[in-house]
Amino acid sequence: MSVSFRKNRLQVLDIWVDPLTRREAIRRVRSFLEQGTRPHAVFASNPEKNFSVTKDPELHRIFSEADLLLPDGIGMVLAAKLLYNANIERVPGAEFIYDICCLAENEGYRVFLYGASEEVNRKSAEVLAKRYPRLLIAGRANGYVSEAEMPRLIERINESRADILFVALGSPKQEKWFVEHKDALEHVRVVQGIGGTLDTIGGTVKRAPEIWRKFWAEWLYRLLSEPKRIKRQRILPIFAFMVFQAKAGNMIGLGRQN
Ligand code: UDP
Repeated sequence: MSVSFRKNRLQVLDIWVDPLTRREAIRRVRSFLEQGTRPHAVFASNPEKNFSVTKDPELHRIFSEADLLLPDGIGMVLAAKLLYNANIERVPGAEFIYDICCLAENEGYRVFLYGASEEVNRKSAEVLAKRYPRLLIAGRANGYVSEAEMPRLIERINESRADILFVALGSPKQEKWFVEHKDALEHVRVVQGIGGTLDTIGGTVKRAPEIWRKFWAEWLYRLLSEPKRIKRQRILPIFAFMVFQAKAGNMIGLGRQN
């Protein structure tokens, strides 16, 4: 089923993105829940990932096989526009978790939160329960589970009969966790990798105010509030340069072949 979903996927340099709007993305999650018989991977695709997958063939394969790759930020939206003239919408993973919770609340799907520190994880469950009073939070676990304790965590997830699992271990840890454990998940049909999102829901990390997001400057807000992110964000101009280079290459018939 999801193989056909992947056929419209756009390749942006070395990563892929699904050309969809937020509404279409949630529709796709609904179809995974309704028809799926296995866990479906929902990951965020952004300029940073373009560089991490090139250094790690396993991660490259994991992304190529994901069921849904969200356009997580303006970088992918502009790149898709420039390279394919595609009109896609930003679907940040940190916001999409709310869409999934809303769907879960309305349709009675059970969610499990795995990742972040114990305090942040617990607080996030409280915040979500308050925001979505009918949401069935089937279980939660912090992200510092040892390898020895992992079988017990998997058992707990299965016993909870969660339909949706949010994994907040940061990238690439969460994507690798998915691949290693997906076959052991008996009931879960959707796994969203949400990176540091629980830190914004139940912790002290603040998301950019609406006005910054509206003007596509969330990356700048994050940089100003967490200057140590400069290491990660310095790749943005390189990404932009490479996209322009790919566009120029396409125009003179030197398009990348993969
Ligand atoms: N984390 C975790 N277990 C680990 C390593 C990290 O639960 O073994 C959590 C960490 O507490 C933080 C998140 O993973 O909440 C990583 O956040 P970051 O912003 O670095 O992730 P990104 O969104 O950039 O992938």
